[in-house]
Amino acid sequence: MKICIIGGGIVGLAVARRLHATHPGAEIVLLEKEAGVGRHQSTHNSGVLHAGVYYRPGSLKARMAVSGIRQMVAFCQHHRIPHEICGKLVVATDETEVARLRALQERGTQNGLAGLQWLEREAMIEIEPNVAGVAGLRVPEEGIVDYAAVCAALAQENQDLGTSLLFGTRVERVTPDGNALVVSSRAREVRAGFVVNCAGLHCDRVAEAAGEARTTRIVPFRGEYYRLKPSAEGLVRNLIYPVPDPVFPFLGVHFTRLITGGVEAGPNAVLAFAREGYRKTDIHLRDVADAIFFPGLWRFMNRHRSMAWAEVRRSLSRGLFCQSLQKLVPAIRASDLEPGGAGVRAQAMDEAGTLLQDFAFIERERALHVLNAPSPAATAALAIAEEIARRVPGGSRPG
Ligand SMILES: Cc1cc2nc3c(=O)[nH]c(=O)nc-3n(C[C@H](O)[C@H](O)[C@H](O)COP(=O)(O)OP(=O)(O)OC[C@H]3O[C@@H](n4cnc5c(N)ncnc54)[C@H](O)[C@@H]3O)c2cc1C
Repeated sequence: MKICIIGGGIVGLAVARRLHATHPGAEIVLLEKEAGVGRHQSTHNSGVLHAGVYYRPGSLKARMAVSGIRQMVAFCQHHRIPHEICGKLVVATDETEVARLRALQERGTQNGLAGLQWLEREAMIEIEPNVAGVAGLRVPEEGIVDYAAVCAALAQENQDLGTSLLFGTRVERVTPDGNALVVSSRAREVRAGFVVNCAGLHCDRVAEAAGEARTTRIVPFRGEYYRLKPSAEGLVRNLIYPVPDPVFPFLGVHFTRLITGGVEAGPNAVLAFAREGYRKTDIHLRDVADAIFFPGLWRFMNRHRSMAWAEVRRSLSRGLFCQSLQKLVPAIRASDLEPGGAGVRAQAMDEAGTLLQDFAFIERERALHVLNAPSPAATAALAIAEEIARRVPGGSRPG
C-alpha cells in the first residue's frame, strides 16, 4: 500500500517514520509545500519539552505529553540532539492563584508526573532567585530542546528508511479514485491507499479539499517573543511560567532559557491576519476572509472581547508586555527587552466559538486528518505518531 503524508512539520515527519515500523513494506510519500522540513510551527515555538502537567487527565494531550516527552528525550539522546531537562517553575503570584496551582499539581499527579514539588516562597527563590510570587510548583521532568535539530534528524531517518520526501508540493485537492485517493498539487499527483493530513496551520483547508465540512476551523493566534538582553539574562535560570488561565489553551507569557543560548520572554496570543504571518504587518486576504466569515470567531470575540483587545494593546506596547513579565520577575525592565521572533499557533475553534482544548482527529476509511495539534504537539510528536499509525489500516504492532 502507498501511504501519503501531507505536511513535513514535526508531526508529519514523526508519522512517516513510525509507519515504517507499523506498516513494513508500505511505500511512504511525504508532500511538503515548502523547500524543506519544519518551516512553520515546529521551528517557531518556545523549544520546551512539556511533561503534561496542564492537561485534563485522560485527554489525548495528557496521555501523549507524558509518553511523548519520554520518547522525545530518548530520540534526542540517540541522535545527540541538544536538550536539557532543567525543570520548570510555575509561579502563583497571589493567593487566588494558589488554589489554581494546587489544582495543577493535582492534575500533574493524576497524569503520572514524577517528582512534582510544592514550594513556599523561600524554597522557590533558591531555585529562581529573582522570581516574585507566594508559592511555586516545580516540574522537574520538563526541559528545553532544539526542535529544528529534531526535525532535521527525523527527516534524515525518513530518508534512510526510504520515505520519499517531496518538497515544493502544495496539496490542493484530494479526490477518491476507485479504492484509492488522488492527492493533487500543481507539481504532481500521488495515488495513495491512505492519506494522513498533518498540514498544521492549513489542516482544515486540506481536510476540506478532501471533502470534509469545515465545521471547526483553524484560527491563527500569533505568539510574539522578546529576547532578554545579555545584561539581563542572569535574572532567569531556567523556565518560569505563570499559572495559566483555564479558559484558554495558552500558557501565558513566560521566561524560557533557550538550548541554543539566551533567554526569551513570551509568547503572547494575538489574533493574526495571516496564518503564516510572523510579523504584525503580515496580512493574507484569504486568511482574513476565512476568519471574518466564520461565525465561531464572532462568538469567541463576543465572549472574550476584553482579553483579545488587551492582547492587541500588549502586542503594540513593550511597556505593557514588560508589566506582564514583572508579575513573575519584578526586576525586569522594558529596556532589558529586545524584539525576538514569533510563531503562529494552529488552534482549532468550533462554530460555537470554543477553542478545542484537546488534540483532535477526523478518521475516515482512507484518510486521517489531524485537526488540532497545537502545543504540546512538538513534545508529543512521537506519541502522536504512534497513535496515528495505530489508526492506519493494515498495520502490525512492532515489538
Ligand atoms: C508560539 C508557539 C510556541 C509553542 N511552544 C511549544 C513548546 O514549547 N513545546 C511544544 O511541545 N509545542 C509548542 N508549540 C506547538 C508546536 O510547535 C506545534 O504543536 C507543532 O509544531 C505542530 O507540528 P505540525 O507538524 O502539526 O505543524 P507544522 O510544524 O506547522 O507543520 C505543518 C506543515 O504542513 C505544511 N503544509 C501546510 N499546508 C500544506 C499543503 N497544502 N500541502 C503541503 N504541505 C502543507 C506546512 O508547510 C508545514 O511544514 C508552540 C507553537 C507556537 C506557535
